[in-house]
Amino acid sequence: MPLLEIVKVPHKVLKTKSKPVSDFGPELQQLIDDMVETMRDAPGVGLAGPQVNQLLRVIVVEFGDEEDEQVPPTLYTLVNPEISKMSNETVMGIEGCLSIPELVGDVERAEAVTVKAQNRHGQVVKIKASGWLARIFQHEIDHLNGVLFTDRTTAIYRLEDFVAEGEDGEHPGTIDESFDPPLSV
Ligand SMILES: [Zn+2]
Repeated sequence: MPLLEIVKVPHKVLKTKSKPVSDFGPELQQLIDDMVETMRDAPGVGLAGPQVNQLLRVIVVEFGDEEDEQVPPTLYTLVNPEISKMSNETVMGIEGCLSIPELVGDVERAEAVTVKAQNRHGQVVKIKASGWLARIFQHEIDHLNGVLFTDRTTAIYRLEDFVAEGEDGEHPGTIDESFDPPLSV
């Protein structure tokens, strides 16, 4: 399975809305497998169709239990995902993106979401997520709508400054200190 090239800003595919998937045949299966491999190789915790130059509503996410590092990460491969419920409570967190090298930013997101989607075989699935997993889903579904974290951020930093300043604890932004460097999605 080949690794796919990850598209970077300012490529216009990243600002374009993706199309719903209706064909769950071998091409989609291959794309999903390649996206998973590309995400793991990057490494990242999420990847969306447009990031590999495919304007299809497909995301892959792999993320472990925040509380327990012993639990292996769960892989989600979702087709036509939509946020069907969103908590009123929001949280600030720092995000990076595989398509936006060298920058990270503070983004306010819903603390919890319910995602309605299809799995890779077309069956309907519903996932409840909170915390970082909820953030990753919101970031990836944004990609399908041509929205980047830089469209939502309230403060942006260069990754090298973030890491340097984070080490001595003087980073000016709101950081979840358990994630350093920030997750790339
Ligand atoms: Zn991203």
